Amino acid sequence: MITRGDAQRPSTYIQYRKGLCDDCWGGCCTLPVEVSANDLIRLELITEEEAAISLKKVAQKLMKVKIIQAYHQKSQLFVLEQRYGRDCIYLNKDRRCTVYLKRPEVCRAFPKIGPKPGFCPYRRK
Ligand code: SF4
Ligand code: SF4
Repeated sequence: MITRGDAQRPSTYIQYRKGLCDDCWGGCCTLPVEVSANDLIRLELITEEEAAISLKKVAQKLMKVKIIQAYHQKSQLFVLEQRYGRDCIYLNKDRRCTVYLKRPEVCRAFPKIGPKPGFCPYRRK
């Protein structure tokens, strides 16, 4: 069955416009989130020193506490853990971001950058 606002199916996305986020279920926050070491520092999950010593060690530490689910050595990007294999760990019950001011760059760039640039997996919450 095809549901409108299915984050896995860009064909169900609608064009983004100002104010669309107000009553959205946060479809963008159900996509895997790739973050850099700088994002992790801003989120206060690691220190600059830890990032400089070894990103592999950073990955091991954050995987242990279930904050990240993967680390891609080539791109030096980490993937944030998802709840129920879907929701970002920073999404609250009201489907709002709990780290909004410190959120990763990729979240700030959505939907300019995403599976279908300029379009959103919008669904009313
Ligand atoms: S999917 Fe689009 S409309 Fe919904 S919260 Fe994310 S950016 Fe806003
Ligand atoms: S960090 Fe915030 S904005 Fe980014 S995916 Fe998670 S809940 Fe959404």
